[in-house]
Amino acid sequence: MESYSKILLQEREKGRTINKKRVEKILRKLLIELGENPDREGLIGTPRRMAEAFEEIFAGYTMSSGLDVSFSEETDAIIAKDIQFYSMCEHHMLPFYGKVHIAYLPEGKVFGISKLTRLVEKYSRRMQIQERLTKQIADEITKMGVRGVVVIAEGEHLCMKMRGVRNHSLVVTMAHRGLMEQKELRENILTLISNSKPGLRSF
Ligand SMILES: [Zn+2]
Repeated sequence: MESYSKILLQEREKGRTINKKRVEKILRKLLIELGENPDREGLIGTPRRMAEAFEEIFAGYTMSSGLDVSFSEETDAIIAKDIQFYSMCEHHMLPFYGKVHIAYLPEGKVFGISKLTRLVEKYSRRMQIQERLTKQIADEITKMGVRGVVVIAEGEHLCMKMRGVRNHSLVVTMAHRGLMEQKELRENILTLISNSKPGLRSF
């Protein structure tokens, strides 16, 4: 088993996506374990469709954000609000999804909104927990050279809604780095985020 996962890991590092044929076989077995007949009409193509869906849902492992492509701009703060994300809870393998808001203080260069969206996809399209998703986005932006960043994620978790305690609350997580660690500055930015219209804004 260990060598099998080692091979898969090596394939991942080479940028290869999932092996759909192998995944299909596993999903067919899963259907049988669940008490289903994988050969009945409605299910005959299900393992293939699921494998294709997984390829998309877990594409984050081989994605790059492209954040290195930036342009020069003198501005104090930039807010990218309401970036939609879909992710999979790593504890139950059920979806959690919602919005990410990113506010950062550039250091001479700014990132396009499409790059920030891609950054969110890189870390959401994988097995994840919302706290780590928030931190990883903040860390990659920090690494690219900004004076400060705050990332807020608001997520609905199907593993909380469909099962267990059936808690319907929205989970909010936040990560802040650099100058955004100053409480007063962060609070000003948070007010801007909650008052502003969706989209990209600079101040
Ligand atoms: Zn869960």
